[in-house]
Amino acid sequence: MPYGRQWLDEDDINSVIEVLQSDYLTTGPKIAQFEKEFAQYVDAKFAVALANGTAALHAACFVAGITKGDEVITTPITFAASANSVLYCGGTPVFADINPYTYNIDPAQIRKKITSKTKAIIPVHFAGQPCYMDEISEIAQEYDLVVIEDAAHALGADYKGRRIGSISDLTTFSFHPVKHITTGEGGMVTTNDEKLYKKLLLFRSHGITREKESLRCDQGAWFYEQLDLGYNYRMTDIQAALGLSQLRKSNRFLERRREIAALYNEAFADIESLIIPFQANECHSSWHLYVIQLKLEKLSIARKGFFEAMLAENIGVNVHYIPVYKHPYYQDNGYRNTKCQYSEQYYERAITLPIFPKMSNQDVAEVVKVIKQILGRS
Ligand SMILES: *Cc1c(COP(=O)(O)O)cnc(C)c1O
Repeated sequence: MPYGRQWLDEDDINSVIEVLQSDYLTTGPKIAQFEKEFAQYVDAKFAVALANGTAALHAACFVAGITKGDEVITTPITFAASANSVLYCGGTPVFADINPYTYNIDPAQIRKKITSKTKAIIPVHFAGQPCYMDEISEIAQEYDLVVIEDAAHALGADYKGRRIGSISDLTTFSFHPVKHITTGEGGMVTTNDEKLYKKLLLFRSHGITREKESLRCDQGAWFYEQLDLGYNYRMTDIQAALGLSQLRKSNRFLERRREIAALYNEAFADIESLIIPFQANECHSSWHLYVIQLKLEKLSIARKGFFEAMLAENIGVNVHYIPVYKHPYYQDNGYRNTKCQYSEQYYERAITLPIFPKMSNQDVAEVVKVIKQILGRS
């Protein structure tokens, strides 16, 4: 049993075949259609499809104007890409500690990290649980910062009645197979700002435009100009077709993830040695991950032993995440003195359990049974 995996049906396969038989494999009509429906789904004005979630983060950082000398505050409890995208633009990631209950970046810790060089904040909705966006938006307004939400875990999540993807300047998503919907590889940036939207389109395709009104010197019908240093970060129509058919199942997937989380919550509610995920009243998590923490002081088994015992029973556990600044690349490039106490404590105790829409109630019961057995021995 894996910790996460895609769910593809016949109709997903057919929608891909349809594109393979059409005139456009890339830069065709499926991209625009996927973007339009995705924007509607998350309640944003604009959406731009990209080659993957990391490209989406890179594009968001670029159009936010992050450049050499800028500091960008993010969380250590995330996939490395959230911080790497700042480095791609020449900026410096600054890590602010998490709230020990939500596992999300703590607005009070963000405040402590602000300097005259701070340009942006990248909150990550860890496991699908929305960050405290009101507090983060308030800080951003006060210091004139850009907010880029990394919502790779949070498709379908909502915060105070608003869909994640509709709140900040920029929000990024990933369609890797373990995420809520998949396009194989793929990503999206959403925004309500038309200027940022246009810049994202340029960045995705070499910085090149053919739009008449953008050209400095139009020499004829063949003419185009490169206005920025962009990349080839385009998504194919093959991927977009898969994304469209997956998006139509997104609510069903989301509902099933929530059911599985509720089953786990109920099963673990009275186990003294486990901490189950905290849920804030005003948020609805999209449950990309289900993470438990072991109260190690109450157990004779270490996290490593627990993890290996789960693997031995073929339960695909995982650990999300190693604090980003602990990776050798970051250690060797200026982060040796970085220490986020709650992030490190969380990392020592966390285990991600399997959660994915195709998981059956029997699968959930199996995971619960194995956990109870291991705890019974320790
Ligand atoms: C998956 C993920 C990404 C990167 O997405 P890719 O599509 O794999 O490039 C970025 N941030 C977080 C938090 C992720 O989980």
